[in-house]
Amino acid sequence: MEERYCQSCGMPMGATDEMYGTNADGGKSEDYCKYCFDNGAFTAQCNMDEMIEFCVPHMSGANSGMSEDEARKMMREFFPALKRWKTA
Ligand SMILES: [Zn+2]
Repeated sequence: MEERYCQSCGMPMGATDEMYGTNADGGKSEDYCKYCFDNGAFTAQCNMDEMIEFCVPHMSGANSGMSEDEARKMMREFFPALKRWKTA
């Protein structure tokens, strides 16, 4: 099965819909996790760099052996491909 990620913070979403946020109509978002997106709106209004800085300690903490610099570098490559941050 294809790995799914939150299209805002890059968090792996797992195999169920449990981690997904909710749309304004109460349905599940197909793109964003419940931490980023709730009731049809983003929970934090931030730009991509701010989101990366917010995620750095989590990413580094969740991957033993990954330094904060490595986490930041990885996200700077990964985040521009996510739906929320795509400019094109
Ligand atoms: Zn998210």
